[in-house]
Amino acid sequence: MIITKNLKKSFHGHEVLRGIDEHIEKGEKVVVVGPSGSGKSTFLRCLNLLEVPTSGEVWFEGNNITSKNCDINKLRQKMGMVFQQFNLFPHLTIKENIMLAPVKLGVLSKQEASKKAEELLERVGLPDKAAAYPKQLSGGQKQRIAIARALAMNPDVMLFDEPTSALDPEMVGEVLGLMKELADDGMTMVVVTHEMGFAREVATRVLFIDEGQVKESNTPQEFFENPQHPRLKEFLSKVL
Ligand code: ADP
Ligand code: MG
Repeated sequence: MIITKNLKKSFHGHEVLRGIDEHIEKGEKVVVVGPSGSGKSTFLRCLNLLEVPTSGEVWFEGNNITSKNCDINKLRQKMGMVFQQFNLFPHLTIKENIMLAPVKLGVLSKQEASKKAEELLERVGLPDKAAAYPKQLSGGQKQRIAIARALAMNPDVMLFDEPTSALDPEMVGEVLGLMKELADDGMTMVVVTHEMGFAREVATRVLFIDEGQVKESNTPQEFFENPQHPRLKEFLSKVL
């Protein structure tokens, strides 16, 4: 579904991604962990060209999205993204937030989008919040809505960048629970997180990014029980 070939990204001459070669298959749940500042967000943002790679290629569903003649907007619709800070539109109701992209991009009629939004509100367990505004919701509820909004476009893959890092501890579980349901439904997911329990339980593969490189990639079992790279051993000794 996603391939990166020697993916590199520099900011002002500082190389943040130093050649990442990854294959992410349909249905995989790839959890990305690593120290702060190691390039995890940059990697995720390069997958849908929110950041333009300095060199290398990104392929999505057979298309080289880093080539000049690629219609990235069309392909990006198939990649849902969820951020740490929710990024809901404050002046729109919850339902309007969910309906906005599919209506604006002409993917669904208003009526279809409305129906879809109601289904999604049901799915994320917030059917009574349609008319509310984001500021009336808790952090956990806002993040569940942000997930619903991304799902409104029927994405083929969901990218999550530390979706629970801004939440009070008692709200982390409801968001991880929803993500686990998505995973169980077969969604392809790439998740940057510090939640090692989620990585163990949900990941089909865990990547360790350190200093802009993937230093380890393994099943959760091997990753946590039998880490190979010294930097990963050190990292795990701090976070577990
Ligand atoms: P992580 O998500 O692993 O914490 P990031 O990918 O956010 O790491 O950042 C990696 C490095 O790139 C950091 O040193 C950060 O300061 C730098 N960086 C990220 N985005 C930008 C940007 N837009 N402009 C300049 N530097 C950036
Ligand atoms: Mg980050």
